[in-house]
Amino acid sequence: MKGPAKLVLVVIDGLTPTMLEASLGTSSTPALTALAERATLGRATSTFPSLTPVCLSSIATGAHPDVHEIPHLVWWHRGEGRLVEYGSSFGAARAAGLGRALRDTLVGMNAEHLGARAVTVFEALADAGLRTAAVNFTAYRGRTLHRPSVPFLGPVRGPEQFFFYNLFRAERTGAPLSFRNRARGSVDAYAAAVGRWLVTRDGFDFLLFYLSDYDYASHAEGPDTAAAVLLRCDEAVGGLVEAAGGLDGFLERYAVIVMSDHGQTAVRNVARAAEPFRHEPDTLVAASNRAAHVYRTGAGAPDARRLAERLDGEPSAEVVLFREGDVAVARRDGAELALRATAAGVELDGDAGVLDQPDAVARALAVLRCPNAGDVVVSAAAGWEFADLGGKHHLGGGSHGSLEEGDSVVPVLTVGLDGASPGSVVDVAPRVLAHFGVEAPPYALRRAA
Ligand SMILES: [Zn+2]
Repeated sequence: MKGPAKLVLVVIDGLTPTMLEASLGTSSTPALTALAERATLGRATSTFPSLTPVCLSSIATGAHPDVHEIPHLVWWHRGEGRLVEYGSSFGAARAAGLGRALRDTLVGMNAEHLGARAVTVFEALADAGLRTAAVNFTAYRGRTLHRPSVPFLGPVRGPEQFFFYNLFRAERTGAPLSFRNRARGSVDAYAAAVGRWLVTRDGFDFLLFYLSDYDYASHAEGPDTAAAVLLRCDEAVGGLVEAAGGLDGFLERYAVIVMSDHGQTAVRNVARAAEPFRHEPDTLVAASNRAAHVYRTGAGAPDARRLAERLDGEPSAEVVLFREGDVAVARRDGAELALRATAAGVELDGDAGVLDQPDAVARALAVLRCPNAGDVVVSAAAGWEFADLGGKHHLGGGSHGSLEEGDSVVPVLTVGLDGASPGSVVDVAPRVLAHFGVEAPPYALRRAA
């Protein structure tokens, strides 16, 4: 039997597999439970740093940061000699320059920072003559020019049907203002209204429907506690289903993927990632949540190994990555693992226990090959978070960004899709393209093992 022709990809930011699996069959997730009864439910590994701009870029392009070049929520732009900040917090955005941070987040990430070698699902599908749509998804680069509804942003290229926090909209939908009350769920309420509008009109072949409020709540309340927000996410998904006349009609028309971009773990301690480097010349630290990049910004800076060794005995730093010639080095508690890429694969030399986290070898190699990553990249230890540029953190709540399993593993629910459940977030875009008979771009590094 031929499956449904179109596809809806739902991304619920920060939803952990444990939270989804525990809530299926309960009153918090009636729509997701009904979908799950017809679905394959699996788990996939995210990319590193496991932070939203990096993860959504990986979902959109099917590539790690070596190709899509988005290294973190905050990073040093070597070409422009300045920090890029995608909104770790309001304080961090203000510290980086509010106008600049807004522009980087809403326009610059897609128009300038997202790697030229990367191809987004929106670009690949549009090139194949298919109609693409996205709601609030921040890695949106596509082929259709859209003018903003506010004067200061300038036009961007997105999917054909592009709806982005009232700032860009392909058509008038009557959806409410997204930022009127974020804590009460107005961002996802906007997404839900636009999603229903799109499904009612059957106005796309591929829809990427992004819900961000669950992550926002989990940062405040801690992982696996935001059941009320998950219920709102479920209602938003239920709204799409109803707009197609119920589950049978919905699944006749669409294959469905529901997934998350990263997990969350509890924050019990906060560190200033720049502190161990305060006496080092020409050294800059870009830190946020549970990952940090250390950059050599001038000739006076110590070499990468010396910078990495500064973090020996630092309780907040678990895995410290750097490059030494053509070898990638991972350091943890004084033990080391060297990774050397060869034509046959990746050769490991040293203590393999240094990188025992999910898909860690591929993720470590990928971030070290990212042209915008630091000379040293730090994955935080369990329970630790790095304060951002504005000094903000989520002590007592939740965070993510590290290689650790809790930050890195996401649920994936698939209905009407051929083949096994995706094992990595970078497997999703190729699966979407395969669904439409479109060939995926040939990136070298997806998974090392
Ligand atoms: Zn987050």
